[in-house]
Amino acid sequence: MKLAVFGYPIEHSLSPQIHSAFAAQFGRELEYARILAAPEQFSERLQEFHQAGGGGANVTVPLKEIALTLCDDLSERAHAAGAVNTLIRTKQGWRGDNTDGIGLVRDLQRLGVGLKDSRVLILGAGGAVRGVIMPLLNAGVSTLHIANRTAARAERLAAEFAEKFAGVTASSLTAIETERPWTVIINATAAGLQGERPHVSEKILHGQPFCYDMVYGQQPTAFLQWAAEQNCATADGLGMLVEQAAASYRIWTTEQPQTLPVLQALRQQLEQK
Ligand code: NAP
Repeated sequence: MKLAVFGYPIEHSLSPQIHSAFAAQFGRELEYARILAAPEQFSERLQEFHQAGGGGANVTVPLKEIALTLCDDLSERAHAAGAVNTLIRTKQGWRGDNTDGIGLVRDLQRLGVGLKDSRVLILGAGGAVRGVIMPLLNAGVSTLHIANRTAARAERLAAEFAEKFAGVTASSLTAIETERPWTVIINATAAGLQGERPHVSEKILHGQPFCYDMVYGQQPTAFLQWAAEQNCATADGLGMLVEQAAASYRIWTTEQPQTLPVLQALRQQLEQK
């Protein structure tokens, strides 16, 4: 099977390694390339890939929203997310799906975090947040609060979901409710990439919520270091990356790979860098 990941930049992507490890579990031959595509070239690159026999692809930053516009058919979760991270070629053309949200939910489940009737606080209101809202609500989250540096962006996002789910609310980072404890706090801002953490009050950690950062790296992010100092249990987003990849792999092959050995190998590799 001929697969690829499209992005801009793309050389850092761990996806080829993850998918090769999944394919090895089934003794499958897999060709999985990294394809650099600036937003304005994406449509053409994708067409070339298809003409060369490409049957499925992952899409990463900043192409997920454009990918949605290139699809002939969309899954319900891609439609709700307004973004596509997985493409599969069907007789009708490209079908778009989004596995980011299910990747996060599965990783939280693996970590033993109960989501049923939970109170979840999400920091950030970008593309990644849009993709995880519906899967979190479907997993039984009862209150989902979106707080963002630019409050208007969080409010716009919450308004899209609030019609269907009464428990979705929004605010700025400084107006987060601190009286009732949060079950889980998910940092979905890009702050960790700059060595920063979102400017939020220490009071949000009251009750010691489980703290998750979508960003991953060699060292824990500033947000996770801060949460661990307040005795909160923590995890980074490497597991989400592997779980979203597993869900994509299943879409292409119908096979369900084992994620834990792949995650452990990647973790070891990151720590040795
Ligand atoms: P995005 O659309 O660019 O949104 C970035 C978000 O971060 C916005 O809410 C922005 O706030 C906020 N932000 C950036 N710098 C900040 C700072 N210094 N302090 C506070 N807030 C800050 O990005 P995205 O696609 O949603 O992705 C968010 C992060 O999740 C990225 O770092 C990405 O690498 C990671 N991610 C990981 C996975 C995984 O599998 N582990 C999957 C998807 C994404 P404003 O609106 O105020 O600018």
